[in-house]
Amino acid sequence: MRSHDSLQHIEYRAQPVVGADGGAVFLINDLCNLTSNYLDTRQVNEIYRAYLFSAEAHRGQVRASGEPYIFHPLNVARILAELRMDHQSLIAAILHDVIEDTPTAKHQLAEAFDPDIADIVDGVSKLTQISFESKAEEQAENFRKMILAMARDIRVILVKLADRLHNMRTLDALPAQKRRKIARETLEIYAPIANRLGLNKFVLELEDLGFAALYPIRYRVLAAEVKKARGHRKHIVKRIEHAIKQRLQAENLPGKVLGREKHLYSLYQKMRNKAVPFSEVLDVYAFRIIVDSVDSCYRALGTVHSLYKPKPGTFKDYIAIPKSNGYQSLHTALFGPYGVPIEVQIRTDDMHEVAESGVASHWMYKSGQDSSNAAHARARKWLRSLLVMQREVGDSIEFIENVKIDLFPNEVYVFTPAGEIMQLPRGATPVDLAYAVHTDVGNTCVAAKLDRRYAPLRTPLVSGQTVEIVTAPWGRPNPNWLNFVVTGKARSNIRNYLKNLRRGEAVELGRRLITQSLAGESLTIEDIPQDRINSLLGEFGLADFEALLEDIGLGNRIAPLVVRRLVPLSEEPGGETVRTASRNTKSAQPLYIKGTEGMVVTFAKCCHPIPGDSIYGFASAGRGIVIHTQLCKNLSEYTKRPEKWIDVEWESDIQGEFPVEVRIDAANQKGSLATMAAAIAEMGANIENVVISDRDGLYTSLNFVIDVIDRTHLAQIIRRLRAINLVARIARTRS
Ligand code: MN
Repeated sequence: MRSHDSLQHIEYRAQPVVGADGGAVFLINDLCNLTSNYLDTRQVNEIYRAYLFSAEAHRGQVRASGEPYIFHPLNVARILAELRMDHQSLIAAILHDVIEDTPTAKHQLAEAFDPDIADIVDGVSKLTQISFESKAEEQAENFRKMILAMARDIRVILVKLADRLHNMRTLDALPAQKRRKIARETLEIYAPIANRLGLNKFVLELEDLGFAALYPIRYRVLAAEVKKARGHRKHIVKRIEHAIKQRLQAENLPGKVLGREKHLYSLYQKMRNKAVPFSEVLDVYAFRIIVDSVDSCYRALGTVHSLYKPKPGTFKDYIAIPKSNGYQSLHTALFGPYGVPIEVQIRTDDMHEVAESGVASHWMYKSGQDSSNAAHARARKWLRSLLVMQREVGDSIEFIENVKIDLFPNEVYVFTPAGEIMQLPRGATPVDLAYAVHTDVGNTCVAAKLDRRYAPLRTPLVSGQTVEIVTAPWGRPNPNWLNFVVTGKARSNIRNYLKNLRRGEAVELGRRLITQSLAGESLTIEDIPQDRINSLLGEFGLADFEALLEDIGLGNRIAPLVVRRLVPLSEEPGGETVRTASRNTKSAQPLYIKGTEGMVVTFAKCCHPIPGDSIYGFASAGRGIVIHTQLCKNLSEYTKRPEKWIDVEWESDIQGEFPVEVRIDAANQKGSLATMAAAIAEMGANIENVVISDRDGLYTSLNFVIDVIDRTHLAQIIRRLRAINLVARIARTRS
């Protein structure tokens, strides 16, 4: 490889090479010549080095035309060089297919060039990977927004547009069906993006090439007609041009006057949308006047209005009220000689640059400018310049908001597996998406795949991802989700579901508690006279029996006290037998805990009860029953409220896993934590949390929270851990 220092002495001159189409092929020497007009030698040398790198990576690859592949990236760079783009953009253009089509990885580009360039190439590759299947107008709009949202550096879009432009220029080599697909995508997606960013040069060419490829016959007919008409018009165009020039000179207004051809696609659209015949569409003579200052623009306007009669209601002042992409000009329509319609645009050189290149004009190389700007700095600068313009001209229509939202979006755009694009607020997670699709999907979602890989439900979505929501009939909203969802719809649906769920569980638990208490009196709910229930409901101000059960289940009322009100000792006829029975069954059946009661039965975090432990239940207002172990240190706190204690016992065939805390003192050695974690995992227990509570030179104290099935399971794990040499002490903790 040639040392790039020696490049300073290279003459970028080579024999012209004839390409497949018979024209001269654009070579790296030509690019170096072109860029040496505005970049310094060091930057041109970097471009040359990028060329060598890319040519090496693409070695042996050919395009559909049969040309070496490297011709394509070289021409993409040429398009950007003609816009006088900075050297990072050009290098990224030369390398733009290297990640996608060769084994080269992003980090290699970051090392060989710089991280900004690697980011741009990576961004272009990501855009290349998503493909747009034309559906609805609205889909196309979302797709455009998605593309803009995916590009953190606007230069990604500029390289992508240049890539698309060169692909359109060389579309002939592809089979017809592929040609049409790419052409449609160009017209529906890329040309409108170029338009939004004010890249007029790109818009015109993309549209004409897209039109030619999608409707070849219409294009040919229209092109022939235009050519014919142009011959007839030549004379009159010259005449008008001359008249305007003379008048401007007489008024001492130096400026350029250019006859302007409308591009074919805009003529076609006008014919189609307004249903006007060809003769009428083409029967307009269009001119552009470019002058040196804003002041001169208005003076030039007065001049042409005095030359030809203006057509009422056609004047538009886009200088005072620029278009949303920053476009500025004065537009007017006139009646010319023989009454021919004339359209005139008047603007300054600066406005012309913005009109042609839009956002790209801010990446154009300007000498002495620091090129190591942060990614968005220049896009922001562009926006700022639009804002300043807006302020100068006062409040104007719809201005800027669109552009701003496009470049710095508050939304993410993701695909469903069916290819539909969903718009969500920034920070949205798969759960938000699930609820956006349908409430039922949200309520039963259990997992998510992002670009076909499983990811936690709390992962924030990124524009361009394909998101698949996995649902299951047993799926239930998790109260945890409320900590990360961002959409109102997800939040309110989750809350609503949990409220209903809790109510259902509370009623169920309340029924079990009151049944248990009545059993102490050898009674069932059916034994209680309805009028007694009704009068108690009236007294409590409750609507129905279910409301009473819910209140009990939630711990707001204590079941034995409610039973005492329902079954008063003295008032019960034949109460003698009842009371006797009651005394005989003093130790009524306890409430059996299954672990599946849901939110109304919780396990205390202070002592972590597990099946096999002796336990107590405590009715906690609003929360249902909280289970503690009998060894819990907090127990004494609750002895003041004996009426709130509930007799509980574990169900015999209990299902599930329960967290328990274990403290381990282990020798302070490298890898000791990993050894213990491996042993725990080996015993089939999940580690929920580890905290290093204490550490000195010799020992480390670790507090593990692990999920176990029951006491036996825990004992096995402890035995297994004791067998590890490193472990000095191990004990279950009940803090
Ligand atoms: Mn390409």
